[in-house]
Order: sequence, then C-alpha cells, then structure tokens
Amino acid sequence: MSLRVTVWNEFRHEKNDPEVAAIYPDGIHAALASALRAHGIDEVRTATLDEPEHGLDVETLASTDVLIWWGHLHHEDVADEVVDRVQQRVLEGMGLVVLHSGHGSRVFRRLMGTTCNLIWREADDTEVLWNVAPGHPITEGIGQRFIIEREEMYGEHFEVPTPDELVFISWFSGGEVFRSGACYRRGAGKIFYFRPGHETYPTYHNPQVQRVIANGVRWAAPQVAWSSNFGNPAPVIAR
Ligand code: ZN
Repeated sequence: MSLRVTVWNEFRHEKNDPEVAAIYPDGIHAALASALRAHGIDEVRTATLDEPEHGLDVETLASTDVLIWWGHLHHEDVADEVVDRVQQRVLEGMGLVVLHSGHGSRVFRRLMGTTCNLIWREADDTEVLWNVAPGHPITEGIGQRFIIEREEMYGEHFEVPTPDELVFISWFSGGEVFRSGACYRRGAGKIFYFRPGHETYPTYHNPQVQRVIANGVRWAAPQVAWSSNFGNPAPVIAR
C-alpha cells in the first residue's frame, strides 16, 4: 500500500517575511514535500492555514496516512472543528509528525494534554542532535549524532508527557538540552515530535533533517486497518 502524506503549513512567514521567503520561496510545505518525494514517498499533498477548512477537509484527512504539521504564530486561528477532526483521525490510526514550533499548536496540545511549553532563544546557537535510540526506525542512517550549525535554541523543561520513546536529545551551544525527538501513541495513532526547523534557517534543506522526517513519516504510518468496537453488547458466551 502506498503511503499518503499531507504536509500542513501555516504558510504566513513565507508571505510576510522576505528573509523566510528567500529560504523557502514556495513555502516550508513545498520544501518538505519535495524532500519526502526524494526519499521515495511520492503521494504527498500540501495544505495551508488560509485554504478553506485549512486544507484539511473530511475527505483529505480520510485519505491521509500521515499528517505533518508546521505552525508558529497563528495556532489560535486553527478552527475547533479542524482540531477535533485531526485528533479523531489520529485516534483512528493516522500518523502525525509535529515539527518545531508546532509544539504549541492546538492539535499537539490537544493530543498531549499539557501546555507543551519550553524555553527558547534566537541567537544562532549550534545544535548537536544525539541519537539516543540506535536501531530505532526513525534514526536509521543517522549514526551517533548530527550537527545543525545554526538554529533557534529550545530548552527544558519541555512540558509534555514522558515520551513513549525518546529518539533524539539536543545539546545547544548555550548549554541547554532538549528532548528533540519524541514518540507517542494516542489511540491507534502514532505521533512523532521533531524539534528542528526555525523558519529563518535553512534547516529543512539539511539532508539529515530530511532523512529523519522521512523516517518519522514511515514510522508513524498505520500498519494495519483497525477499528474499535464500543457499546453495550450481549455476552459472547450464551448463558
Ligand atoms: Zn522557531
């Protein structure tokens, strides 16, 4: 079965900030989509905040195996019904990959149940991402660690539930550390949070970052068709 991915992006920095537009002329979503295609994931669509229903109508989500989420300044503009719909699809088994400032998105906060707050600094820090889960599908091909020369710093405490699996820890040149690759299960769905990707740096052009995101998409993809039975049934054994 082929893997159907939808890349969702707020897509406002790229329209309003020439510095960001110079790095991502067609938007972060387009850069991520082409990176996934280069990794052999070819059924990739994009959706953005300013489209009707933010591009996440019922049909689109129903035919999405993995949703990628990048948002930053306009989390509160995401409609209740779309948050509900994404949550429901994750519980049904859709994978979700949340990137960078998506930590503050309504969708991620809903699924985590915590503030998802953290500390941050924009000061050209160097980030070293340590692979703390060698052998995990998400770190395949990454090796012991990789370095992003300049990035925004995110530091602990990151107020999320303890991850089911932690795959990366970041160190920053300012001395902070951060749980930068974290895996969760909610209902039948898998969620991967991956930290890098501040909009003023070319992070999503970094081949190792692209590889981790492609690995994360494959990991989060549903493996089997699945549906729950609820309600008030008669006994299975007749008495
Ligand atoms: Zn940022």
